Amino acid sequence: MDEPRRVAIVGAGPAGLFTAAALLTGTDDDLCVDIFDRLPTPFGLLRYGVAPDHAGIKAVATTLARVFDAPRVRFLGLVDLGGNVTVPELRGGYDAVVYAIGAEDDRHLGIPGEDLPGSRSARQFVAWYSGHPDATPQPLADVRRAVVVGVGNVAVDVARILLKDPAELSATDMPDAVLAELRTARIEDVWLVGRRGPEHASFTTPELRELLHTAGDGVSVTGCDLGAIDTDALDRRARANVAAIADAADIRSLTASRRLHLVFWHRPVEILGDRHVEAVRLEPADGPGAGAADGPPDAVIPETRPPASGELTVPADLVLRSIGYRGVPLPGVPFDDGRIPNLEGRVLELDGSARPGEYAVGWIKRGPVGLIGSNRKDAAETAGHVLEDLATLPRRPLSDFVATLAGRGVRPSTLEDWRRIDAAEIARGSIRGRERTKVEAWHDLLALVSRA
Ligand SMILES: Cc1cc2nc3c(=O)[nH]c(=O)nc-3n(C[C@H](O)[C@H](O)[C@H](O)COP(=O)(O)OP(=O)(O)OC[C@H]3O[C@@H](n4cnc5c(N)ncnc54)[C@H](O)[C@@H]3O)c2cc1C
Repeated sequence: MDEPRRVAIVGAGPAGLFTAAALLTGTDDDLCVDIFDRLPTPFGLLRYGVAPDHAGIKAVATTLARVFDAPRVRFLGLVDLGGNVTVPELRGGYDAVVYAIGAEDDRHLGIPGEDLPGSRSARQFVAWYSGHPDATPQPLADVRRAVVVGVGNVAVDVARILLKDPAELSATDMPDAVLAELRTARIEDVWLVGRRGPEHASFTTPELRELLHTAGDGVSVTGCDLGAIDTDALDRRARANVAAIADAADIRSLTASRRLHLVFWHRPVEILGDRHVEAVRLEPADGPGAGAADGPPDAVIPETRPPASGELTVPADLVLRSIGYRGVPLPGVPFDDGRIPNLEGRVLELDGSARPGEYAVGWIKRGPVGLIGSNRKDAAETAGHVLEDLATLPRRPLSDFVATLAGRGVRPSTLEDWRRIDAAEIARGSIRGRERTKVEAWHDLLALVSRA
């Protein structure tokens, strides 16, 4: 009898796990699926990106984890492709390899002052409040004014976390140190800055409404005339977004203690400051409404009232750029514009020729767009091609790749290790009446990984 075919999936985020499930349901043949991740924890951005106060979405993890119940699926953590394992090595151990490594970098603004202390990326901020072990501390002591550059859902998430009363976040899985740091902030003003109008913003309406609700009666709109937007010409989402903003701006109060300022048709051109961020200079961007000011009265934010030119200088203690995630190249794998070039998931060389046996899925395949659900359809496409191609792909040597790794001292973590981490987080949480509290430090995670 033939040995089962072996498929490696690199990345245990939503796309990798949907792919494993699609591979198993798509064939009656024996198939061994090894799912690698550089972390000892599965779920990728579902665990380390989706906002901690969105518990309902996080529950998708229960569905995704079912794939680990299949007898021929293994979770192998602490395997970093391009780090402790090379691509040729992995290729040698499997009939097919699927790259599901997401997008672990982000885009920069490329403006003067971007490297000043206090100017950071929303991606790092998200990783920090999500308890990612690679996250760097995000000091917030006495931050009163924050500028978030970008008008997508990630920008909306970070603005909401900043505006929310930390007491409301204490029921989430945020690490204790994160909650303690959020309590040191003295947030009064959060600015959300978009280069185009509210009708072009990529945030989705429920997320926008939640943010507006968090800001309550402290919402103002600058840079566009909401009444002048031809809403009949818009799609449903854009129309709903404009309506939500108009509703919120209508009930603006002069006395709100935490304020959200939506600035449209402006782009940051310089971050000002001596030894730390002090302000952001915004210039009108091209387009209708550029320069038009619909800002709040002087009594609320006197220093930010736009001059006639439409230029704004917004005082800030913290700047978070949120202008898109970006893929990271794997050594030896083609890479173009933040993605692995592919045709429906089949990896291509830069000249467009085929690379048999290599596949891509999720954000590294499509770019950093789409909700968790989008990865399911995407995974079905990639998995379908893997199964189709296995009929003709050469069989690799029969040795178990994990034994090969052990031979040179690389010992992956296992599903049992993840379950131990999971149990420890639930136990940590229960002390404070929470569902879980994340274990965020590498040394604590590794202490829970059995190396016996
Ligand atoms: C801040 C934020 C909030 C979001 N909120 C929502 C939301 O509320 N609702 C929603 O539906 N969607 C949300 N999304 C989108 C959703 O998270 C993505 O659609 C989804 O996670 C993409 O899946 P992926 O598997 O391609 O990538 P990821 O989830 O990033 O998974 C990639 C995995 O690969 C691993 N990896 C990376 N490099 C290597 C390597 N070299 N070797 C081994 N392993 C590696 C990583 O550790 C990670 O586990 C959000 C995204 C972000 C950024």
